[in-house]
Amino acid sequence: MPTIDGQRVVTDLKRLAEFGRYKTGVHRPTYSPVDVESRHWLAEKLRETGLDPVIDGIGNVIGRNLSAKRRLLVGSHSETQPYGGWLDGSLGVIYGLELARAFAADPSCAGLGIEVAAWADEEGHYQSFLGSHSFTGMLSEAQIDGVRGRDDGTPLREALQRAGFAGRPRERVDPQRYIGYLEAHIEQGDTLDASGLRIGVVETIVGIWNYRVSLNGEQNHAGTTRMVRRKDAGVAMVRLATRIHDRFPEIADPRTVWTIGRMVIEPNAPSVIPGRAEMQVQFRDADPARLALFEKTLHELVGEADRAGPCRVAIETAAHNEPRPMDPGFQAQIEAAAERHAPGMHMRLPSAAGHDAAVLSYRMPAGMMFIPSLGGISHHWSEDSKAEDIVLGAQVFADAAERILRTA
Ligand SMILES: [Zn+2]
Repeated sequence: MPTIDGQRVVTDLKRLAEFGRYKTGVHRPTYSPVDVESRHWLAEKLRETGLDPVIDGIGNVIGRNLSAKRRLLVGSHSETQPYGGWLDGSLGVIYGLELARAFAADPSCAGLGIEVAAWADEEGHYQSFLGSHSFTGMLSEAQIDGVRGRDDGTPLREALQRAGFAGRPRERVDPQRYIGYLEAHIEQGDTLDASGLRIGVVETIVGIWNYRVSLNGEQNHAGTTRMVRRKDAGVAMVRLATRIHDRFPEIADPRTVWTIGRMVIEPNAPSVIPGRAEMQVQFRDADPARLALFEKTLHELVGEADRAGPCRVAIETAAHNEPRPMDPGFQAQIEAAAERHAPGMHMRLPSAAGHDAAVLSYRMPAGMMFIPSLGGISHHWSEDSKAEDIVLGAQVFADAAERILRTA
């Protein structure tokens, strides 16, 4: 069995966290100077393990194994959320690096190849899952032309140019090359932490369905327009939002979640009646039938609000990311490895967060493993996990990778 060096894993995670360090977390947006530096650093670390690293035309770092006969692709993303945590994404990337080292050092693993990937922009500073979409052939050149930075509108082409990645070929998956893809990640929720368990075996990555709801009223003077004459789009939005939050619990499973994460009113001024408003509604569930029921219900509520007036209410779909089941064989191997190193301290669970493994699962069998997040906190600089869980996770992950490589 490949044996990981726990101290080395923690040291490398801490080193990676120095690129864009912010308090105890990290601020490392995709294609920022620190992100580019960290990708070059990682490529060099991969070279030291004997892999052949490439940083491709979208910024993916891929450490290729030129000698193995059977290859497992292992990785995660390496940029962070704004002022985010030091483990989100980085954990899976450094586990990949450690697996490559541990397999290379173990003569009994000769011929079993670990290839390592650090995907670009899973976090969507430009567009969510850019790197894994590019790798799996789901991102065209024309799409790249249209993408802009979420904060300052920088064209993606310009960002790639500045990063030094423009003009490089984009690596494309050859599914024949791999027996599958494996990703480790912090759970980000509190299921493991709250139950005192140490390893999560991911069954499904939930579907995430997003909508834009727009409300059109009439912008007018906040003093001279009598209440009966008003068509206040802000009021209409708040009423509809309340109805959504009242209705959804009646059709939800305990794990279903929904969020109105963005609300905008125009012109958003104290003495002007809002003429237009927009909100984004999102829900997540592992069950396609429940997602469809939520969609039907949302459309009904929007239709009722539109008929009730006085504002016109419309809805459009912003994105449908479908639920993606993880490979049952991979789940069984991760579970067996967890049982060996942490008997009785693991569980199966869905991932309520989106991950690159969902994208990769369209091209090859994919599996995911979680370690606990302290207090279930993530997408915040205070995100953390216990060092002993980080070390245990790496060993379970290495063991699972070997089992998969030997049996697949
Ligand atoms: Zn992540």
